[in-house]
Parts: sequence; C-alpha cells; structure tokens
Amino acid sequence: MEIDKDLIIIGAGSAGLTAAQYGARANLKIMLIEEMAPGGQALIIDELENYPGFPEPISGYEFSERMHKQAVNFGVETKTATAKKIEKKDGYFAIETSKGAFTTYAVILSTGAKHSELGIPGEKELSGKGVSYCATCDGPFFRNKKMVVVGGGDAACDEAIFLANLADKIVVVHRRDQFRAQKSLADRVLKNRNIEVRFNTVIKEITGDNKVQRAVLGKTDTGETYEEECAAVFIFIGSIPQTDLVPDLEKDEAGYIVTNQRMETATPGLYAAGDVRSTPFRQLVVAAGEGAIAAHSASQYIDELKGQAYG
Ligand code: NAP
Repeated sequence: MEIDKDLIIIGAGSAGLTAAQYGARANLKIMLIEEMAPGGQALIIDELENYPGFPEPISGYEFSERMHKQAVNFGVETKTATAKKIEKKDGYFAIETSKGAFTTYAVILSTGAKHSELGIPGEKELSGKGVSYCATCDGPFFRNKKMVVVGGGDAACDEAIFLANLADKIVVVHRRDQFRAQKSLADRVLKNRNIEVRFNTVIKEITGDNKVQRAVLGKTDTGETYEEECAAVFIFIGSIPQTDLVPDLEKDEAGYIVTNQRMETATPGLYAAGDVRSTPFRQLVVAAGEGAIAAHSASQYIDELKGQAYG
C-alpha cells in the first residue's frame, strides 16, 4: 500500500512550523495540518522581543508569516483542516481530518494549548463584550478606558504592559502576594505608572448591561468585596493543553504530554513538541527547539522503517 506522506505534523505554531522546515530539509514528504492561520499563540503577540536574532521587536504576525514561508520554501504542504482522529496501524498512522483521510509513517503533535477560563459569573455572557483573552486583539477597543487584567504569570504581565500603552488605568489583579512571572517582566509591571497592582485579590464576578461595566473584586486577606468600574477584563490565568487526539498517551499532572528528550511518546512514530508537551519553560524559542528535535527523531525513525537508516 502506498503511504501518502512521510510525516504529518498537526498544529502550525512555533513547534510545528520548525518541525516542518527541518523535516522538509531532511527530504521528507510533509503535510502540516492547521485549522487556523499558521503561527499559533505567536499570532497574538504584539511585539516579540525575546526571540534570538531579532534585536528590534517584531510583530508575532510577521514572525509567524516568515516561519511559514520558510517551511513552504522547503516544500512543506500546509493543509487548513481540523485533525479528528489519529490511529496507529501496522507500520503507519491513519489520520482523519475535516478535509479527508491521510496515511503517514510518523506524526508530530504540536497542537499547543488554549487559554483557561475563570468560570465566574459574567465571564461567558460578556465574552467579546469586554471580556477578552487577547490584549493585542481587543485592547485597542478600550483605548483610554480603565481595564482589569487577571493573572500573575508572564502572559498577564506582558499583556498588562501592552495595555498600559493604550490607557493609563490598568488594574492588575493577582490572587497571591507576588507575581509568578519572570522577574524582569514583573519588575516592569510594578514600575509602570499606568499599572496599579492589587495582590491578594480575586475577581468574583463581571457585570454590565450587554458590555463590561464592573468587576467584583475580593481581597483574600480581609475578605472585603468591592466593585471596580472598568470597560474590559483581560484574563491570563494559564492554558489547557490540546490533547483530545491522544486520550491514551501519558500526561503529567497538569495534562501535558510526557515524552523523552527525543520528543518520543510511548507510541513509536508519534512525537509531541511545543506547548502541548510537558516542559518547564513555555517559550517560542523552546517550542521551536523541540520541533527541530522531533523532526530529527521522526526522520531517523522513518529511515529505519524504510530500511534506509545510516550505519
Ligand atoms: P502561568 O505561568 O501558568 O500563570 C498563570 C497565572 O494565573 C498564575 O499567576 C496563576 O496564579 C494565575 N491563575 C491560575 N488560575 C487562576 C484562577 N483560577 N484564578 C486566578 N488566578 C489564576 O500561565 P501564563 O502566564 O499564561 O504563561 C504560560 C506559559 O507561557 C509560561 O510558561 C510562560 O513562561 C509562557 N509565556 C512567556 C511569555 C514571555 O516570555 N514573554 C509571555 C507569555 C507566556 P498562581 O501564581 O497563584 O499559580
């Protein structure tokens, strides 16, 4: 039987795009499946300033376009489709997608992670009406208005700094008494005159008449609850790995896929890379590195399957 592709990569974020490029340069016939535009979470970064080799900040959108173009230049086929099922057969995988079924010798899963929700009253109802999970996308709608940012990690700090360029009243609400974010980012938030940080504070409810008008905040130390008038609430409280395609693979306690350092899962020929993988530091550059390793491992595996292994 003829196998359609040497390698199918699912998810075109930093990990998937890098894996595709490395795989194509290793002469593999590759299909890169993505349901949205290529780029993944990089697409929503306003100014990417920590990717090596870019001393001037670059927009996440342009960065994503460049990565995709580089992969396509090396012969990668991109398919805009939703992957629905991965099935391991004897010596190959069958992948079902919204645009047809394909066979492949190996699969790299680089499906990333999706933002978490608070689950408080008003969050769902006012989503898109002032409740947002993307400052770059929605911040400009609330220029010069008061905005609340929820969370204490890198994302919350990064996005609060972005929003502080649009308005001088950004209130960051974090449930603990210090930030989890990298110190450099946390310090920039604490020193920013347009940002007021409220530690030991949680958000209990978001209210408003068909648009966000208030956030109900609660102090964890005193128990006091009060209303904060605001035009928007931006929520950055971490993310959920996209692992629906592989329910049986081993995960860590937070649900991320466990691999070895070659990005191999317990299923031969199936690899995971980037934000979907259990990793200590989720960064574009880390995801790119993991994508490169996964492609290298997959390439060796495919060579062995085809009886073309070196040495
Ligand atoms: P994160 O590091 O997991 O931080 C999530 C934050 O949200 C934590 O401060 C957490 O509080 C808080 N939180 C979680 N659940 C909450 C809830 N139900 N109510 C209130 N607060 C809640 O997630 P992230 O900031 O999205 O970052 C994810 C990954 O992307 C990280 O590895 C990060 O380094 C990376 N990233 C990097 C950059 C950059 O380098 N510029 C930018 C964005 C993201 P606790 O502190 O109490 O746990």
